[in-house]
Amino acid sequence: MQLFGTARVNARGHLEIGGCDSVDLVREFGTPLYVLDEDLIRSNCRQYRQGFAAHYPSARVAYAAKAFITTAMAALAAEEGMDLDVVSGGEIFTALRGGFPAERMLFHGNNKAPEEIALALDSGVGRFVVDNLHELDLLEDAAARRRLRARILLRVTPGIEAHTHDYIRTGQVDSKFGLVLENGQAMAAVRRALSLRHVELVGLHCHIGSQVFDLEPFADSAGVMIRFLDQVRRETGVTLTELDLGGGLGVHYVSQDDPPTIASLTRLVSEAVRRAAEEAGYPLPTLLVEPGRSIVGEAGTTLYTVGAIKDIPGIRTYLAVDGGMGDNPRPALYGAVYQAFVANRMRQDPTSTVAVAGKCCESGDMLIHEIGLTDPHPGDILAILSTGAYNYSMASNYNRLPRPAAVFVSGGRADLVVRRETYEDLVALDVLPRRLSAREGVA
Ligand SMILES: *Cc1c(COP(=O)(O)O)cnc(C)c1O
Repeated sequence: MQLFGTARVNARGHLEIGGCDSVDLVREFGTPLYVLDEDLIRSNCRQYRQGFAAHYPSARVAYAAKAFITTAMAALAAEEGMDLDVVSGGEIFTALRGGFPAERMLFHGNNKAPEEIALALDSGVGRFVVDNLHELDLLEDAAARRRLRARILLRVTPGIEAHTHDYIRTGQVDSKFGLVLENGQAMAAVRRALSLRHVELVGLHCHIGSQVFDLEPFADSAGVMIRFLDQVRRETGVTLTELDLGGGLGVHYVSQDDPPTIASLTRLVSEAVRRAAEEAGYPLPTLLVEPGRSIVGEAGTTLYTVGAIKDIPGIRTYLAVDGGMGDNPRPALYGAVYQAFVANRMRQDPTSTVAVAGKCCESGDMLIHEIGLTDPHPGDILAILSTGAYNYSMASNYNRLPRPAAVFVSGGRADLVVRRETYEDLVALDVLPRRLSAREGVA
């Protein structure tokens, strides 16, 4: 059995996280419930920062908010000295509400709306990662109107694409993100950015993929990007000083997963950038990375209550829980796999093989296709592990299911960070036009 962070089996044979018994958490907060191990999130932040402190002191670590963001998460990331990668006006607004300093935010996105650009400029967001020439024009105009100079990085597709277990050097050109390096688009955008008065080009950005288990593509992209920085210097005379290599480090979802450690990533990336800079005779840039999943993924556990158990003899046993694709769309969206335990009976060995189904009206609403569980019964608590990233942030109200609550647990205390949605919340945005509300019966 593989548990993460402060998770352990306590004397009562229950799953305990952050010193809180999962059975007590369910009694207090109900299910489904997102439980976040605050100590593990902090420890992951510190491993990134300490890893770079040892190998590349000028490096900055920007937490990728899209993995999981609430006001409390923004406050925690600020406390841990992280920068923040945001991709929408809504994420900027959330982070500001959490007290996150705007100057430590980097604003990403392939289609930033004029209102989002305005919000970012007016609140003092520190860096824009410009994705395309259209955005460059919008930003120049918006900054000119405010008599500002926006600091930008240009997003480049380095021709390296990394996926979970393999990576491909071609095909990357066909991406909705960024400026293609190989065909000269990126260099043309650099020249254009350098010609503008209200943007200041300070560096380059790339992001090669997500849930990456192989470190080599990170080193390769560092090399490609440093060589491009050097080409920019030779062709324009401008020495750009910032290099952002994006996020993407993978995490454990099931026990067979074997992702590299944060320490090995920070060491390898630092060495690769140093080596490439030395070979090119390029001054060491300020390095940025943008981890999301590897900060919060393993720190999240979702607790569900087991409901109907449907056995189809000789075929399969469906175990239904009180959530599903509304709180975790990843299995339906991209076949993501998870491991789970009966949280109130952790000591016993698995006795039955079941499929864990959600409660939405979709046959595709399955959370786990096959898993061994300890004699599960209606009323048991099912814990699905590694749900910290891309679960709450991707949650929906499909079938008008209220979205779950989320708690931070640490040292035996549990603090609500997102309250559970109510039916009133579900209709709060609905508008019933008068001509429909007065009807009696059907015409
Ligand atoms: C999604 C994303 C990240 C974070 O990726 P993880 O795999 O969660 O680490 C970082 N940077 C950019 C530009 C992204 O799109």
